[in-house]
Amino acid sequence: MLETLRKIVQQVNAAEGLPEALDIIVDRVHDAMGTEVCSVYMRDPASNRLVFRATKGLNQAQIGLASLAPGEGLVGLVAEREEPVNLENAETHPSFQFLPDLGEEKFHSFLGVPIIHQREVLGVLVVQQTEQRRFDEGEEAFLVTMSAQLAGVIAHARVTGAVRGGALSGDGAPAKVSGIAGAPGIAIGTAVVVSPSADLYTVPKRQAENRRRELRAFREALDCVRADIQAVADNLGTELNPEDHALFDVYLGILDDSTIGAEVASLIRAGQWAQGALSQVMIEHIRHFERMEHSYLKERAVDVKDLGTRVLAYLQESAVENRRYPMNTILVAEELTASSLGEVPRHKLAGLISVRGSGNSHVAILARAMGVPTVMGAVDLPYARLQDRELIIDGYNGAVHLNPPAELKQRFQEALNQDREMSRDLESLRDKPCETLDGHRTTLWVNTGLMADVTRSLEQGAEGVGLYRTEVPFLLRDRFPSEEEQRQIYRNQLEAFAPRPVTMRTLDIGGDKSLPYFPIEEDNPFLGWRGIRVTLDHPEIFLAQIRAMLKANEGLGNLRIMLPMICNTAELDEALELIRRSHREILQEGLTGELPKIGVMVEVPAAVYQARALARRVDFLSVGSNDLTQYLLAVDRNNARVADLYHALHPAVIQALANVAEACRLEGKPVGICGELAGDPEGAVLLLAMGYDVLSMNSTSLPRVKKALRSIHLADAASLLAEVMLLEDISAIRQRLHLFLREHGLGQFIHNPVD
Ligand code: PEP
Ligand code: MG
Repeated sequence: MLETLRKIVQQVNAAEGLPEALDIIVDRVHDAMGTEVCSVYMRDPASNRLVFRATKGLNQAQIGLASLAPGEGLVGLVAEREEPVNLENAETHPSFQFLPDLGEEKFHSFLGVPIIHQREVLGVLVVQQTEQRRFDEGEEAFLVTMSAQLAGVIAHARVTGAVRGGALSGDGAPAKVSGIAGAPGIAIGTAVVVSPSADLYTVPKRQAENRRRELRAFREALDCVRADIQAVADNLGTELNPEDHALFDVYLGILDDSTIGAEVASLIRAGQWAQGALSQVMIEHIRHFERMEHSYLKERAVDVKDLGTRVLAYLQESAVENRRYPMNTILVAEELTASSLGEVPRHKLAGLISVRGSGNSHVAILARAMGVPTVMGAVDLPYARLQDRELIIDGYNGAVHLNPPAELKQRFQEALNQDREMSRDLESLRDKPCETLDGHRTTLWVNTGLMADVTRSLEQGAEGVGLYRTEVPFLLRDRFPSEEEQRQIYRNQLEAFAPRPVTMRTLDIGGDKSLPYFPIEEDNPFLGWRGIRVTLDHPEIFLAQIRAMLKANEGLGNLRIMLPMICNTAELDEALELIRRSHREILQEGLTGELPKIGVMVEVPAAVYQARALARRVDFLSVGSNDLTQYLLAVDRNNARVADLYHALHPAVIQALANVAEACRLEGKPVGICGELAGDPEGAVLLLAMGYDVLSMNSTSLPRVKKALRSIHLADAASLLAEVMLLEDISAIRQRLHLFLREHGLGQFIHNPVD
């Protein structure tokens, strides 16, 4: 049963579009269950009707013609109730409705199950039999399981159909794919798909720009792989017996096989680029071997895959060197990484789309810092087929539009123009203080990581750095930077902002930030070895970093040090002792300088409840609201599936933020926040009222927050906070905050969908 399910899902997954996917479903389910009829009705989003879309056993001529309104007939009943309906005699049921010309008169038993994806009923899957009998429990369970597994695949196929053939065959139907808002803004541009290294199954379809060059690249890649395999065989020459040696002959034989090479070459000549042609041919051959009965031959599929992957790796290497980025590039990937962002010249990069990850992934944080509109978690996007397609990104609402009709494009273009105008207006605030209408001043700092952030931050009028993510330079290397390398990097940061303060966070790796050269493999990385836990276990890494910071601070004095992921006082005491020790050593080496101010990040619920004890030991606290929200709500900040449960303004988060502010007030210590919430105008209003002294955010958000806080009175923010603290419901909080912004002429900061 499991095997049957798996096979059907795999086959449907490989379909080119929705009609083909539905045909496969009705055909395979019909065979697997041995029923006389299997049909699928799909909900049409425009009319909301359930349209007869595919069948095995009923009248095919009615496909696309017959339909039922919601709640109409048994199919409508299944969709409305969102649960299976299992009947031995369908026509006696009160909801039964006869659809002429379908040819279902003779079928008495009926089993219909809803197809539900992300809470939305996409359609209904139905099986029917002539015999009057209830389908048994096992059959019902099979169909329910089938439908649950297929829902995501069907949703995906819907969009795949819209981009079918990609740029090779011209335009397709307009489609919208929902994801998660990653970085605000709108982008209209051309997709450039980056595929993960050497995966035959994710190679995007693309037209060859220069067929001769592609052919040459393919042949060169083949030669390289041949030489590699020959070299391995030669190296092992004496250690292998002649039988084992034969394995290499088989390998070389597959490569020399004139059919594979010829097939790839002919696809390239027909216009495909080399990687696409290779992947298509190799996948066909892999499937061919996999289907073979004989286990020895079946095993050859693994060899073919391995060889194909090796050739692909060489092709990708040469492709990266030759990759060209058009103006308004929209970078699309299954999982975007910081390094892929770095490859595109900034002036050409218009937007980003990542199929995986969420708005709180670090790549989204980087995108916000760079001001690049981004959609994350677009799980239904057939990204591999998007190369060269025109796309619209709505980074405010987390949506991607494919094949946008002219009128929609026009509306987005207008919204984009308005955004640009607003940015120009906000520029005039650059040198103005962040002061409420009743004269209350707040400090706005920025979060940095890349060197590029420095210029941007200064342009936006940053008064200091509230979070310098030191892991960023660590992430962009292939080994730990040495103490001296670190000193230079930190010196650049400190000098760029001096005399303004720069808060450097000690290395925060683990969770979703793993260094390529220091992999951490865990089942639950966010609950595992991350942040201060790693660096306390590796004092040599921690001490080198602290020494580098202290040395970089020589003669400047604007360094502050901050510790991530502290969850008890022992960790803090230990870290403080190491920092003091480093400072003593530095002084002994003849350098000068006071011990910098030291702070703790409040990122885990335990730190909220121990805020006073922590505050007593250090100079300041700073809330990392991204992680704090994740841990308070038990919602993985990277998981698109639960992203709509991640609420930065959940009542529990608001209570926690207020508690931390109060704890600091009682201990007489300053309190700040450096999570993304600080950069949200609505969040900023509440934080101001709670008494946060420092709001640290990405530089793109800074002018908006300044504008918002300069437009209100502290007293109004305080009464808003008092009201909000009594609300128990997230949407009530959101509505109240929207109303507040509108009442204060800040409606432009609320983003409604354009379409
Ligand atoms: C946070 O968790 O809020 C934070 C600022 O740290 P990071 O996003 O780097 O985990
Ligand atoms: Mg954090």
